[in-house]
Amino acid sequence: MPQKFQNLINGKWVDAKSGKTFENRNPANWNEVVGTFPKSGKEDVDEAVKAARAAFEKWRLVPSPKRGDIMRKIGDLLVARKEEIAREMTREMGKVLDETRGDVQEGIDTAYYAATEGRRLFGHTVPSELPNKFAMAIRVPIGVAGIITPWNFPMAIPTWKMFPAILSGNTCVFKPASDTPRTATMLVEIMMEAGLPAGVVNIVHGGGGEVGNAIVGHQDVDLISFTGSTGIGKNISKIASDTLKRVSLELGGKNAQIVMDDADLDLALDGVLWGAFGTTGQRCTATSRLILHEKVYDKFMSMLVDRTNKLKLGDGLLADSQVGPCVNESQRKTVQEYVQIGQQEGAKLVAGGKIATDGALSNGWFHQPTIFSEVTPEMRIAKEEIFGPVLSVIRTTDVTESIKILNNTIYGLSSSIYTRDINKAFQAIRDIQSGITYINAPTIGAEAHLPFGGVKQTGNGHREGGWTVYDFYTEWKAVYVDYSGSLQRAQIDNY
Ligand code: NAP
Repeated sequence: MPQKFQNLINGKWVDAKSGKTFENRNPANWNEVVGTFPKSGKEDVDEAVKAARAAFEKWRLVPSPKRGDIMRKIGDLLVARKEEIAREMTREMGKVLDETRGDVQEGIDTAYYAATEGRRLFGHTVPSELPNKFAMAIRVPIGVAGIITPWNFPMAIPTWKMFPAILSGNTCVFKPASDTPRTATMLVEIMMEAGLPAGVVNIVHGGGGEVGNAIVGHQDVDLISFTGSTGIGKNISKIASDTLKRVSLELGGKNAQIVMDDADLDLALDGVLWGAFGTTGQRCTATSRLILHEKVYDKFMSMLVDRTNKLKLGDGLLADSQVGPCVNESQRKTVQEYVQIGQQEGAKLVAGGKIATDGALSNGWFHQPTIFSEVTPEMRIAKEEIFGPVLSVIRTTDVTESIKILNNTIYGLSSSIYTRDINKAFQAIRDIQSGITYINAPTIGAEAHLPFGGVKQTGNGHREGGWTVYDFYTEWKAVYVDYSGSLQRAQIDNY
């Protein structure tokens, strides 16, 4: 019998009120059930929001250094269970162990950052324009945060959201992706073990349409932090506008790596392989386009195809696997559809292109790492997010044209340029439209203490990570203390 998991509401592990459940399966071997989870609905969300609201009234009064102490304990527990969590994560979503270890590490880094932020959460003191008057701006928590996350970073992304939310004095109702409920459950178990009071974190499993929508539309949820696809993000934004709640959206990408003719080609090759096929191309920051200078095009393509064909597909738990499966059947189908679209558009398929069926691979959602060359900027495979192991290679002539091609998408998350020319690098930093730009490094590799997020339809202007995320989870309150003993009218009595 598969292990049965529950929701956490007000500190208690409970089934969905309907009693229904759903199965979570291993994408590397779909015969293996990782566990069964509650298929919750609106009534479960109502309970969780009620608990979070009640807990908020006490939690907001706990001094933030004290809240930081719990964050530190969470970090310590994540360190102690890192390997166990990484293995379970690989089992439920497929990426190779090195990458799932990195995912947990990002959660650890975020916990320790939040721990120290407990002793900062700085405000400002500002001179008043009137005598004998003191002015300052302080941060205050907002209330109940609805947290909705995708499956591709099942530990890192929930921690990017919940740790700063809770450190700032808010409480959370967390709905993880249906493909990764196991990692999410382990995270919440650890948060409780570290000493969070009942109701500060609540987890409600179930489908986006039911649980996600119920959280977003709830009157008593004050803010929503969502990471996922652009289509669902837009829908969330519309629903949330009814209650005017604050919404942070981190959405899709169509990231590109530029390689100039003066680049170190071996370095650029390592970068594009890691960027395009790490996490089987299922990262929001994955390298989906390679913009390649014509002078090195043929040479680099032959190096790239050769190395791509040697990548070892397999179960992420096996030591020699380099590329895991797609997360589920529907994601692999999308990849196959784009392979057909690329061929119909006249791009040249130079590597992969097929579902992988050798031996044990036939039991999972594996797809060969795939490359299209001779892609033009207007093709759909050059503009739309595929979210799988497919790389589109576009020919370019100079840095200005390369940047123009790179910007030719509705998205703007991550970007990269390989060049030894400092002038080209700085032109790229200035002109590329994206939230993140790497010089001589791949499009993936964000660090927990820097701002993370995108421009254009990748987001709505908020940032996760580092110090910037604390602006989302707190409200600024301006405070004036008048110790003059008389009425002082600003802008009037002093002018
Ligand atoms: P998704 O299908 O948009 O799902 C994301 C989350 O939203 C899941 O928890 C999902 O629940 C939930 N959801 C689905 N329908 C909903 C609805 N109507 N209302 C509220 N919530 C709903 O995305 P995904 O397939 O998990 O992740 C891939 C996408 O995320 C890609 O587009 C990728 O670029 C993007 N992403 C962006 C970033 C970033 O920081 N910019 C990072 C990672 C991923 P279910 O799982 O139950 O459907």
